[in-house]
Amino acid sequence: MVNIAEDIKNILEFYQALGFERLPLNPPLPPFTKGGQGGIKVAALNALKEDIGECKRCKLSKGRTHIVFGEGRPDAKLMFIGEAPGREEDIQARPFVGDAGMLLTRLIEKMGFKREDVYITNVVKCRPPINRDPEKDEIQSCIGFLERQIEIIHPEIIMSLGRISTKALIGDEELKLSAIRGKFFKYKGVPLMPTFHPAYLLRNPKDKWLTWNDAQKVIEKLNESGKDRGGDITWET
Ligand code: SF4
Repeated sequence: MVNIAEDIKNILEFYQALGFERLPLNPPLPPFTKGGQGGIKVAALNALKEDIGECKRCKLSKGRTHIVFGEGRPDAKLMFIGEAPGREEDIQARPFVGDAGMLLTRLIEKMGFKREDVYITNVVKCRPPINRDPEKDEIQSCIGFLERQIEIIHPEIIMSLGRISTKALIGDEELKLSAIRGKFFKYKGVPLMPTFHPAYLLRNPKDKWLTWNDAQKVIEKLNESGKDRGGDITWET
């Protein structure tokens, strides 16, 4: 049976994801034929990618090889957000593919997901020179793209990886990650769990158990919301 209210909601979300504040006079048709809301999200992410184009909105464009947009399920329940691509990511145009990425993948699998079940991206989409922290003006130029990715994917939970992404999403310049990790915050209504960046954990392996504690809280919350929906999440652990 056709659910008209759901379809109208999907259409409005589609145009919102494309950046329209009100319906255009001659709107392009949303791709319902490509698989319902998943198809709409794919189309919206592709539209966002096109909008980024060969972006030169900040100085990071000068040193990059590739823009690293992000990857994973467009309808992922869980989203991981780091700070910026590194050397390997810049070469391969994929997020978290170096040593830190391998550690993140192991965490994701330990949580009961496959890497392709979640969505992974960064606050800035281009590599800062010699892997320095992204600067304030660079984050300001790029964060709009991340905001739209989150709107489109609309995950049930976000895990922010490290100080830079947590600051950018919570909007608190003074926060100390070690003091706030492991506690749920909200980003525009979406629960957000700050935890350590995998690159930090490679340097400080003794703190891995803290990140695993944070991940377990995320699993519990996802299982709770799964029960609300009729218990449709199962974990392989
Ligand atoms: S970091 Fe973001 S804003 Fe800066 S050039 Fe890359 S895509 Fe554009």
